[in-house]
Amino acid sequence: MQADLDLIIIGAGCAGLSLGVQLAKMGEGAPKTLLLEQRKVYENDRTWCFWGQQGNTHSDLANHQWTKLLVQSEKKKIALECSFAPYQMLASQIFYDSAHQAIGLNSLIELRMDAALLNEPEFHQGWWQFETSFGLLRAKSVVDTRPKVLSAVRGAKLWQSFFGYEIECEQAIFDPTTATLMDFYKANSEFVGFNYVLPQSEKRALIEFTVFAKRPYIQDDLVSRLDESVARYLDGKNFTILRKEFGLIPMGLHTGNDIVNATRTHSTYVHAGLTAGAARPATGYAFQRIQEWAVQCANSFSKSGLPINHAKDSFLLRKMDDVFLNVIRNNPELGPGLFLDLFTKVDGRKLVRFLSDRGRLLDYLAIVKALPAAPFLKDVFSFSSNQ
Ligand SMILES: Cc1cc2nc3c(=O)[nH]c(=O)nc-3n(C[C@H](O)[C@H](O)[C@H](O)COP(=O)(O)OP(=O)(O)OC[C@H]3O[C@@H](n4cnc5c(N)ncnc54)[C@H](O)[C@@H]3O)c2cc1C
Repeated sequence: MQADLDLIIIGAGCAGLSLGVQLAKMGEGAPKTLLLEQRKVYENDRTWCFWGQQGNTHSDLANHQWTKLLVQSEKKKIALECSFAPYQMLASQIFYDSAHQAIGLNSLIELRMDAALLNEPEFHQGWWQFETSFGLLRAKSVVDTRPKVLSAVRGAKLWQSFFGYEIECEQAIFDPTTATLMDFYKANSEFVGFNYVLPQSEKRALIEFTVFAKRPYIQDDLVSRLDESVARYLDGKNFTILRKEFGLIPMGLHTGNDIVNATRTHSTYVHAGLTAGAARPATGYAFQRIQEWAVQCANSFSKSGLPINHAKDSFLLRKMDDVFLNVIRNNPELGPGLFLDLFTKVDGRKLVRFLSDRGRLLDYLAIVKALPAAPFLKDVFSFSSNQ
C-alpha cells in the first residue's frame, strides 16, 4: 500500500491540473495529493479562449489576442471593439507545460501519467480506496474530473458540437487583429450553425464549424460543412492542416454530485470539470470558470480539508440562461437573429461582462431589452417547453 493521501484528483486535464496548480501554491500547507492521469503524453489538443479581464487566471499565458470581434450573417455584419477586454487564446500545450512546472515545484503534489483506475473507488472506514495499474491507494478525499460518457450526462438542454482545423496557407489571407466569433450558417429548424475563425497571423488560423442543437453531432456530421467553410474563406488558395480539434459541450447542466452519480453523494467526493457543470450554460465557456473553481476548491481544502463542487450561478443568471437555451432549443431557426440582435443592440462592455460571468443588474436588463419578447415570454409561460 502506497502512503496514505489527503486527496486524489482523477484526471489531470484542465480541471485537474488547474486544481493541482492552486494546491501547489499552498507550499508546505498543501494536502498530500496525487493526480491520476490516463494519458501517456500531453498534446496540443485544444485551444481555450476567454475575455482577458482583471482577476483572470492564466491570462498571462495567452499566445494571441484580438481587440476586434465580428458576428455576421449573409445580410449583416457587426463589429465589436473590445480592447477593454481583449479576446484571448491559450493553446492547451502552453497551459499543460506551465501547470506541470508549477506542480513540480511542490513535492506534496504528484502527477502520475499513464495511470489507469482498475475499479471504482470505494469508501471504507473513512478512506476512499482505489485499485490502480500501479497498486492500491487510499485517500481521504477525491476530486473526480473524468469526463462522463455521453449516455451518463443527464440534463443537457443543448449540445455544442464543433470541429475545426488549424491551417496554414502560403499567402496572406487573414487579419490577425480580428476574430470572427460567429459567421452564421443559414437559419434552419435543426440547429444553430456558425463558423468560428481565429486568425493567429495573416497565414495561420483556427477555423471551426459549430452547432448548437438538441443532440450531439459527431465529427463526421460536421466535416463536410467545415470543408465548405474553409474552401470559402480560402477562396481556392493552398493550405496545410496543422491540427484538428473536435469538441462536444453539454450546455445547461446543473452543478454538483446529483447530476453525475446519485449513489456517490459524499462530502469528501466531488465531481468537477466539463460534464459536472463547469461550463456556462448559455455559452459553453468553461476555462475561466474552472480556474475560479480551482482557486475556491484549494481555499476550501485549506480551511476545512474538504473539496467543493463548481459554484452555482446566481438565480437570475441561471434563469436567463435557462430561458435562452429553451428558446434556442425549441426554435433553432431564430438563433442567428437572436445573437445578431444581442451584438447590435447591447453595449459591448455590457455584453462582454454578461458573457464572461461578470454581469451586473443593468447588463442583464440590457440583454433582456435587446431580445424579442414573443419567443421568450412564450418560453417563460410554457410548462411543456422543457419536455
Ligand atoms: C476542443 C475543445 C475546445 C474548447 N474550447 C474552449 C474555449 O475556447 N473556452 C472555454 O472556456 N472552454 C472551452 N472548452 C471547454 C472546456 O474548457 C474544456 O473542455 C476543458 O478541457 C474541460 O476541462 P476538464 O478537466 O473537465 O476536461 P479535460 O480537460 O478533458 O480533462 C479530463 C482529463 O481526465 C482524463 N481521464 C479521463 N478518464 C480518466 C481515467 N479513467 N483515469 C485517469 N484520467 C482520466 C483525461 O485524459 C483528461 O486529461 C473546450 C473544449 C474542447 C473539447
